[in-house]
Amino acid sequence: MIRDNLLLIQEKIRLAEIKAGRKADSVKLMAVSKFHPINEIQEAIASGQTLFGENRVQEAKEKFTSLFDTNPSIQLHIIGQLQSNKVKNAVSLASCIQSLDRLDLLKEIEKQASKINKQIEVLFELHTGEESKSGYETLEELEESLEYCASGQTPHVIPKGFMTMAPFTSDESLIRKSFITLREASEKMKKNFPQFSLDELSMGMSGDFEIAIEEGSTLVRVGTAIFGERDYSKK
Ligand SMILES: *Cc1c(COP(=O)(O)O)cnc(C)c1O
Repeated sequence: MIRDNLLLIQEKIRLAEIKAGRKADSVKLMAVSKFHPINEIQEAIASGQTLFGENRVQEAKEKFTSLFDTNPSIQLHIIGQLQSNKVKNAVSLASCIQSLDRLDLLKEIEKQASKINKQIEVLFELHTGEESKSGYETLEELEESLEYCASGQTPHVIPKGFMTMAPFTSDESLIRKSFITLREASEKMKKNFPQFSLDELSMGMSGDFEIAIEEGSTLVRVGTAIFGERDYSKK
């Protein structure tokens, strides 16, 4: 079933790429496995899925430590709001932290990455929707963090682009607006910081990834449409 879901999503991504006049394979698929058990993640891996996303560091550690042992080629990104005391584990587990939302966190990521001499990718998360709570509130704050990277104080941090969550609404125009806001922010920042390759635009989830692809997404984060509904009673 997970295999079928993955094939279906890949097909829909391909169609959305074509509809938007974009190149085949210009959009990466992340499988968001939060609240889903190891055996389901293994099923996704057996179907060829390599990129995974988790919200909570503790849960990610419990599941992925053993998964990495048996599947060295898979990658994990942290996509949920990150407290500073979780950064150490996050940095050692993940290849990218997508939910960078404040300067303090950037400094802590650099500190922990330098301790284990690891280069870690980050995406700057921008708040673009009324209802969602996470992300930099303003472009000025986001720019301040990029300035900090540009000043050479984060040699272990590789800025790769931007992430956002659209508001939870059935109003397609609000969802689209949120994605356009992120794309425009990214264009501005790419101009201001040409020394970085800020090409990743992580936007789109199960309910809205086709709109996100139309608006330039390069990475969609899909949970429910791959693994089914999450059972929040288990944790
Ligand atoms: C849970 C989550 C997703 C996946 O959401 P679905 O609606 O299940 O596809 C994507 N991005 C973030 C940041 C999430 O927390």
